[in-house]
Amino acid sequence: MSDFPAALIRPDLRGFGGYSSARTSAPATGDADTIWLNANEAGTPSRADPGGTVRRYPDPQPPALVEALAAHYRVPHETLVVGRGSDEAIELLVRTACRPGADGIVISSPTFGMYAVSARLHGVPVHDLPQRDRGSSWEVDTDAVAQLARDRQARIVFLATPGNPTGSAVPESGLIRLAAALADQALVVVDEAYQEFGGAPSATALLEKHPNLVVLRTLSKAHALAAARVGVAIAHPDLAAVLRRVQAPYPVPVPVTALALQALEPHALADTESRIAATLAQRDRLTGLLAASPLVRAVYDSRANFVLARCADQVAADTLLARLAGCGIVVRDLRALPGLADAVRVTAGSTAEIDALQAALSNPTAHSSTTPPVRTA
Ligand SMILES: *Cc1c(COP(=O)(O)O)cnc(C)c1O
Repeated sequence: MSDFPAALIRPDLRGFGGYSSARTSAPATGDADTIWLNANEAGTPSRADPGGTVRRYPDPQPPALVEALAAHYRVPHETLVVGRGSDEAIELLVRTACRPGADGIVISSPTFGMYAVSARLHGVPVHDLPQRDRGSSWEVDTDAVAQLARDRQARIVFLATPGNPTGSAVPESGLIRLAAALADQALVVVDEAYQEFGGAPSATALLEKHPNLVVLRTLSKAHALAAARVGVAIAHPDLAAVLRRVQAPYPVPVPVTALALQALEPHALADTESRIAATLAQRDRLTGLLAASPLVRAVYDSRANFVLARCADQVAADTLLARLAGCGIVVRDLRALPGLADAVRVTAGSTAEIDALQAALSNPTAHSSTTPPVRTA
């Protein structure tokens, strides 16, 4: 693997050791009889935890979980940082690469909102090179993104592929050109929250040649563990080491580790494969249902587990949202986003959920208070 350019890390953090916790600073005794009195933990378990599994602070990066995730994503374990969802990884990256009030990030809208939120909370400017609406898909102009990042001396480019809310993929050739163009200047973060649904290979294959590339993965979508909050950043080992030092001391709770390990067992992974196949079938069905609705004028091809659609006009959007809401169905209203004043995003839920949506769409007067509410993430 090529060297990691230290210039990509905030100058004041290059020698930063982070918090020295009871876990990170303890001597490795390897002796089961060691008496641990270094972390002010309770001497006996809580009634809520008779087995005492959560009495002590967890390992900051539980080795078994790191190994299981590294094997699942087929990357070396030293490249992987586990956190509380990819949301935490996004925040760590902003804090690690950008000087507050000075360095910026580049996004290509419409995109996932957390990039701009993390930047804003850190006092970092956000530069946007909007995507092109191609009618049935969206296109990120990676060369123009690189140019904007150069002009603004930005430190991070965030791209989601497949994108949210677009559902469109960014071609690998564009990612490669972008990473190469910004090799000495910025991290290129490829957020693959929906990779499992898209069919394209992961950008992790590019990490070897492009040390400024970072890939984000999550157990929240295809693996059905959104509330467990497990996501990873996969990066050059030198950058991964800095991210771990920037991270809060004990980011992965013991019950979460247990749950995630179970989700990575072969049987659970086989279930996930079937869930993905079922989701893709519902996504195609959903695409057809929306396309057939007179309230809808455009449905974008999706490589994720949701569909983005534009309504005929703003009145049609109001009608669609009201009709679905009347049937207890909540979809994502995107009308407040620039250029999406007529748009909605609908998750490819279960067969029963899409059945309910079909019924709501096909009956203009449909209104049912007995239908259970269907929620989207
Ligand atoms: C849902 C989503 C995430 C959130 O992931 P968590 O791991 O749950 O924090 C990240 N990126 C994109 C593009 C998403 O749509």
